[in-house]
Amino acid sequence: MNKIQAKKRIEELRKQTEYYANKYYVDDNPEVSDFEYDMLMLELRNLEKEYPEYISKESLTQHVAGKVGEGFKKVEHKIPLLSIQDIFSIQEIIDYVNKITEKANQENIENNNFVVETKIDGLTASLEYVDGVFVRGSTRGNGLVGEDVTENLKTIKNIPKKLTENIKITVRGEVFISKADFEKMNQERLENGEELFANARNAASGSLRQLDSEITKKRPLDIYVYNVQEITGKSFNSHFEELLYLEKLGFNVNPVKIFCKTSDDVKKAIEKIGADRDKLTFGIDGAVIKVDDLNFREILGTTAKNPRWQVAYKYPPEQKQTKLIDIVCNVGRTGVITPLAILEPVSIAGSTISKTTLHNEDFIKQKDIKIGDTVLIQKAGDVIPEIVKPIKGKRTGEEKDFEMPKICPVCGALAIRNEGEVATRCTGTECPAKLHRNLVHFVSREAMNIDGLGENIIETLLNKNLISNIADIYNLTFEDICSLKKNGTKFASNLINAIENSKQNDLFRLITALGINHIGVKAAKILAKKFKTMENIEKAGVEELSTIDDIGPIMAKSIIEFFEQEQTKDLINKLKLAGVNMKSQNEEVGGDQRFDGKVFVLTGALEKYSREEASSIIEKFGGKVSSSVSKKTNYVLAGEDAGSKLTKAQSLGITIISEEKFEEMIK
Ligand code: NAD
Repeated sequence: MNKIQAKKRIEELRKQTEYYANKYYVDDNPEVSDFEYDMLMLELRNLEKEYPEYISKESLTQHVAGKVGEGFKKVEHKIPLLSIQDIFSIQEIIDYVNKITEKANQENIENNNFVVETKIDGLTASLEYVDGVFVRGSTRGNGLVGEDVTENLKTIKNIPKKLTENIKITVRGEVFISKADFEKMNQERLENGEELFANARNAASGSLRQLDSEITKKRPLDIYVYNVQEITGKSFNSHFEELLYLEKLGFNVNPVKIFCKTSDDVKKAIEKIGADRDKLTFGIDGAVIKVDDLNFREILGTTAKNPRWQVAYKYPPEQKQTKLIDIVCNVGRTGVITPLAILEPVSIAGSTISKTTLHNEDFIKQKDIKIGDTVLIQKAGDVIPEIVKPIKGKRTGEEKDFEMPKICPVCGALAIRNEGEVATRCTGTECPAKLHRNLVHFVSREAMNIDGLGENIIETLLNKNLISNIADIYNLTFEDICSLKKNGTKFASNLINAIENSKQNDLFRLITALGINHIGVKAAKILAKKFKTMENIEKAGVEELSTIDDIGPIMAKSIIEFFEQEQTKDLINKLKLAGVNMKSQNEEVGGDQRFDGKVFVLTGALEKYSREEASSIIEKFGGKVSSSVSKKTNYVLAGEDAGSKLTKAQSLGITIISEEKFEEMIK
């Protein structure tokens, strides 16, 4: 590579790493694996070493990555929270230890020892205590300024709110989610049709960096503390001593810490952690090698990015070859059809792998994976195993191309892939795989609005086989519902009333409730207004539909496909028989939609309206009412004594309106 090429590549790498770091640290949503990111950083570091004239202060090799997210109060770190230099080969670790030992000899350091610890895969938290009381906590941010997440940290059981001594101290630790909790949490998300977290590290980070501590409280966060940043009235000679003291104060201290004297000890400690990593209850992304003597650390000092007294060893991802026996398809609760590779079982990084996700059709095409291929699979650390590539040289000609199914493997309904999307979805209204989610949508406020029929009740009804399709809601009896709860008579009579009342809903609610792809409330209202009856909509052709303002060709196609399905015809028939209204008379439909797409949050005591009244006015004008403030909120209607929602809205810069202003808006 010549100088011009090197300059170009350095610039390219800088842009790429910045983009990925932003996805990882700020959005908590990485786009590449840690290994891929690390390799880009390594290439950048090596090129900058070779061509130092192109080093720039902005390069991620020169400063701590990460930023302070929007909406958080800033906390200045008195002692910077630095990063750690990564090392990818054991030989370089030995060289590092030998170099430090040489320096220790020159400086006459007696305690020339090292501590090797697990590098916990989570995110840094700085915890400040005054008189032994937890007063403030923050994230690393850019190393100099972090995010104030005190309230969120207070929800973590293992962070002591009061220490065993009345001391002023700031400590650094790693917030993480254990492997078991992560699996449980993702399973629950899968069942609720929510997006899965990519890995435990991002789940921990996304959970701690919430603007609403109520959300953090529900997440299984834990912490291990590993450093004293600052302390008043006490001093230590060694890191090991510090760790023992932290334990005495009541902290949960990093459980794996191996005391080492020589480079050989360090090597063995790294190997031991590597061999045991699958047995650990928490995920790690390496081992940290630390100088033990604290005075020696002072002498060694730091760069703008890393202390010189510690480095991190990154374990290589383990790779093995195995046979891809078949590709089968799973249907998730959202109807997404996911191809799954069935593998000849192979032991890798301590676990036996017999299947792994292939994500979607594009992934298979891009990697050119065929059924019968020998594939290279990789397990990097504690992440899900992935197929790196097929070994094309081992092809025999017997391999078969995979084709995404045209019909849902669970219910046989049409499976479609919309333009611009990677996922293929089942369109069946009664697909057993999707039933829970479809039911939740059917009864939701903007659809059939059946109050009292929440997610948990639906789950129980399904488990008890009291319903097996959407129309079964209308066959539920008072006794059925009573059987769900102790002393449930009042609940049952309210629910039966709500179900009965929903039969009179305007047609637009039913169209919304059917969950037709691309058809939300707005489009449903337009359809109801134009066609007046369900029958007319069923009969409409693409051309007729496409001429309607706001109904584009994709929506028209989706409507036609939906009504052509046997399952749809069957469902509509059952609903008709149950007495559900199939007509539109409501003058509200298509009326004044001045709040269309706007999200309101109500807080404090309103004088002129009850919450229900205010909510129904907002909804009548096409707006939505949400119970919590987020970036998506457009207005917060604040009455007397408004509390935390108001404060949060202010911090997010959301428009706050009084009752007077609200009255003006609805005139
Ligand atoms: P780092 O590698 O610089 O390590 C420092 C961090 O290690 C500390 O902030 C601390 O939180 C943590 N740590 C855990 N256990 C520790 C212990 N026992 N002692 C000391 N520190 C301990 O971390 P970083 O700068 O936050 O990020 C680099 C890591 O993030 C790399 O592993 C990289 O792969 C990953 N990353 C991935 C992407 C991606 O797109 N996948 C993007 C950016 C960064």
